[in-house]
Amino acid sequence: MPANRVRLLVMNAALGPLDYRVPEGVEVRYGAVVVAPLGPRQVTGIVWEEEHLPTLPVPEAKLRPLLSVLDVPPIRAELRRLIEWTADYYVAPLSAVARMVIASGGALRGPATMTEYRLSGGLPERMTAQRERAIAALDGEQATIRELAGLSGVSESVLRGLVNQGVLEPVEVDVDRPYPAARADFDVPDLSPEQAEVAGRLVEAVGEARFAPFLLDGVTGSGKTETYFEAVAAALRHGRQVLVLLPEIALTQAFLSRFEGRFGASPVTWHSSLKSTERRRAWRAIASGEAQVVVGARSALFLPYAALGLIVVDEAHEISFKQEEGVRYNARDVAVMRGHFEGVPVVLASATPALESLHMADTGIYEKLVLPSRFGGAQMPDVRLINLTEEQPGRGAWIAEPLRRELRDRLEKGEQSLLFLNRRGYAPLTLCRNCGFRFQCPNCSAWLVEHRLSRRLACHHCGHETKPPETCPECGEPDCLVACGPGVERIADEVAEILPDARVAVVTSDTIHSPAKAAEFVAMTEAGAIDVIVGTQLVTKGFHFPELTLVGVIDADLGLEGGDLRAAERTYQQVAQVAGRAGRGAKPGEVLIQTRHPDAPVIAALAAGDRDAFYEAETDSRRHAGAPPFGRWAAIIVSSEDEAEAREAANRIGATRPYLDDVHVLGPAPAPLALLRGRYRYRLLLNARRSAELQKVIRAWLGGINHPPGVRVGVDIDPYSF
Ligand code: ADP
Ligand code: ZN
Repeated sequence: MPANRVRLLVMNAALGPLDYRVPEGVEVRYGAVVVAPLGPRQVTGIVWEEEHLPTLPVPEAKLRPLLSVLDVPPIRAELRRLIEWTADYYVAPLSAVARMVIASGGALRGPATMTEYRLSGGLPERMTAQRERAIAALDGEQATIRELAGLSGVSESVLRGLVNQGVLEPVEVDVDRPYPAARADFDVPDLSPEQAEVAGRLVEAVGEARFAPFLLDGVTGSGKTETYFEAVAAALRHGRQVLVLLPEIALTQAFLSRFEGRFGASPVTWHSSLKSTERRRAWRAIASGEAQVVVGARSALFLPYAALGLIVVDEAHEISFKQEEGVRYNARDVAVMRGHFEGVPVVLASATPALESLHMADTGIYEKLVLPSRFGGAQMPDVRLINLTEEQPGRGAWIAEPLRRELRDRLEKGEQSLLFLNRRGYAPLTLCRNCGFRFQCPNCSAWLVEHRLSRRLACHHCGHETKPPETCPECGEPDCLVACGPGVERIADEVAEILPDARVAVVTSDTIHSPAKAAEFVAMTEAGAIDVIVGTQLVTKGFHFPELTLVGVIDADLGLEGGDLRAAERTYQQVAQVAGRAGRGAKPGEVLIQTRHPDAPVIAALAAGDRDAFYEAETDSRRHAGAPPFGRWAAIIVSSEDEAEAREAANRIGATRPYLDDVHVLGPAPAPLALLRGRYRYRLLLNARRSAELQKVIRAWLGGINHPPGVRVGVDIDPYSF
């Protein structure tokens, strides 16, 4: 590269590539993170290969000099290629993808220490509600003033007041303090022969240090985690870093303790609720190579690992790997691409793989490793259907008699039960008995969900909240509001009626909102202090409770409504995963599924425990629909705060649609959530043959259309649901 001028990919989507002069005596390499002047302001940029970022050349004399080169390792070529691939594949601006790498480091340019605050033990001169809230929010931890303001909802000036009174005391935190080292040989388990065979194959692949995608397909409780831990150990022995992607990071306390038991130290964690000091510390340790194993949510995929040796995506079918905002990517797919560019093995582990993943394995693109049975001789649970058209629970009840009987039976035997309903809160809809008024979100086309435990009505899309009023806001009648339909809180009430002596725990993101809460729940369940767990999809994975012998699925049909193309697969996965929580110890498990459609292929396959039957039926219907893996889908989402503006923009796009043999355009039509967070949304759907150059078509099509500034146009390649 020329020594005296560089081209930058700048972290601003509105700008193209920019050229700068390298000041005398400064040396920069490709991938260096630099600060450059832009008008009167500054921008952060990454030094990029000129030929990958074509732009009109700027005359030498007009170039301005770089201001500084940041003290972080340059972004490696492998990651630069991944950034390019991701932007290209998901039709997103390069800078938006690069920002996930750079901005994720938080204050890359900050000082070596940061000031956090903890409770000194002293009390304020006068206790106020705000001060009380701030103190409660800190809860034995420490945080910066800004983080504490965010956590507690108390203003920074109130917090400064507490600092001045000595209630909060400062702690200087060294940003680069080291992490404890993991050991490959800390507590090595005895693997079963079938586990040993799978582990051996993975260990071999790690040793070969080249791209090798695996589908680790094993029933729940077969020891998938135990097996890929051996691959992690192999990477540690080779001095390479490991990335383990997990879905719900808040619930990984059990995973982290298990990891610590095997490797003698906790891994480095990465997720959205990390404090800024921890974020910076982790980013820098990952870039320097000091962080050996990173366990993270999908965003951990874009971190600048110094020497990656293995990527694991656990519960690889999970929908939370799909990012639905900004750059709409699927971390499962990008993980495979990262493995490709880095030249390392990638393991997708699941008991219920996505059809696309199975297809890749069946066509030989992924190597399939199978663990067909549970570890230690535990049996798969028995599954029975309860036909709700015949066994109707009474008015205002949702648990049918056969399930009630089993719940009573487990309580008598001192065993634990789990009831699954994927709906937070008490009731999904509240209406007025007198005038029919329904509580709706002002920002979204959605009902407000009653949360009785916290006494609020909340929108699950935008977070809008109000207190439930005493009288109807429309007709003014008192005592006229009725809850319609069940949420987990209401099911918990019903359990309390059936089993007044049972200790019931509601497990949702509302009640388990921190790793500490998750740990508390696990400890209580393990100690036998909980008889019945009522939970959402949060309880469908990861837990291993040997005394849990009954799983009840309250409404297996819930996910099938709406005609979504992936509805059947998602239902299958959810129910199979939650069923997998039953009978993991010595005692056999039983699963009761309540349904109004016992003959639907997905329900019948669940009842028969016949996974192949389900995948065959699903494969057929996908083939007919031209859906993945046989065809491809993409969505174009047009939104604006102004309804007419959104509609007109969508129509403008629709009017210039391409007419092609291999790409069909449907719409525009109002999107399923036609109003979301105050923005009106229209959508066009594209269905394409596998061979179509879908991204190229979209880019050429959308590139030629101008919209008013209030309009946003987003592209969703391989949309998860529609
Ligand atoms: P999966 O990830 O497939 O659901 P896990 O790895 O969580 O399965 O294993 C299920 C349970 O069996 C865990 O409690 C795990 O500790 C235990 N287990 C699995 N394999 C072994 C083994 N080889 N030795 C001891 N315990 C094992
Ligand atoms: Zn809303």
